[in-house]
Amino acid sequence: MTITRFAPSPTGLLHLGHAYSALFARSAAGPEGTMVLRIEDIDTTRCRMEFETAIIEDLHWLGLDWPCPIRRQSEHLVDYHAALDRLRHAGLVYPCFCSRSDLAAAAAAPHGVGPLYSGTCRVRSAAARAALLETGPPPAWRLDVAAAIHRTGPLSWRDLDHGAVAAEPQRLGDVVLGRKDIGTSYHLAVTLDDALQGIDIVTRGADLFEATHIHRLLQGLLDLPVPVWRHHRLLHDPSGKRLAKRDGATALRALRESGRNADDIRAQLGF
Ligand SMILES: [Zn+2]
Repeated sequence: MTITRFAPSPTGLLHLGHAYSALFARSAAGPEGTMVLRIEDIDTTRCRMEFETAIIEDLHWLGLDWPCPIRRQSEHLVDYHAALDRLRHAGLVYPCFCSRSDLAAAAAAPHGVGPLYSGTCRVRSAAARAALLETGPPPAWRLDVAAAIHRTGPLSWRDLDHGAVAAEPQRLGDVVLGRKDIGTSYHLAVTLDDALQGIDIVTRGADLFEATHIHRLLQGLLDLPVPVWRHHRLLHDPSGKRLAKRDGATALRALRESGRNADDIRAQLGF
């Protein structure tokens, strides 16, 4: 039985783009399969319970259902911290003490996926690192991507629409796996959750295609099962701008209040 997931962050109301993503995940699971719902609420500064309630209501209105209980990332921080510890003991992550302004100043040329980290903190001596850990501000923890690739050897992954893809995690550089404030990150949490929830087909927007290189590497480092992926198109407004939570016009709630029904929305989105 195929298991897919829809994994919104409760930082605003769902709009048509989310509806497309949720229906895409449901459809990828097939009639016999299951879509699970995961609430990606590790960013405690931006997530709010009222949005989670609204998300659940809007998805039910769209005609979607999922097994209970739902998984909330905020309830599993200990799992993410344990995985980060494992990588720390293996010498595959290092503490980064750079401030936001250091990072902006040192940013290398843009690379399509955002500026790559310059590696300032990777080359620090063990003694200097230990001293900073003792007395410095709380660090972020970055993946030493070169050491990690050395550990796993060459990897590949399969996208059901693009075929076999050679993993090139170096394209994203030494990404943060443990943020200063929450001790984890999107990359680490999502990779662990997909494994823990037995996801066979990871579906998500094309904007996350590049992140898959890193997620495949983390699966190799943490001995996790490897799913297949599908990356769907992103919806845009008539001016060509990607739909965003801050423009309320396509919020499912607003559409519902304007008299649209769920069948309309599903048909509009091609489901
Ligand atoms: Zn740094």
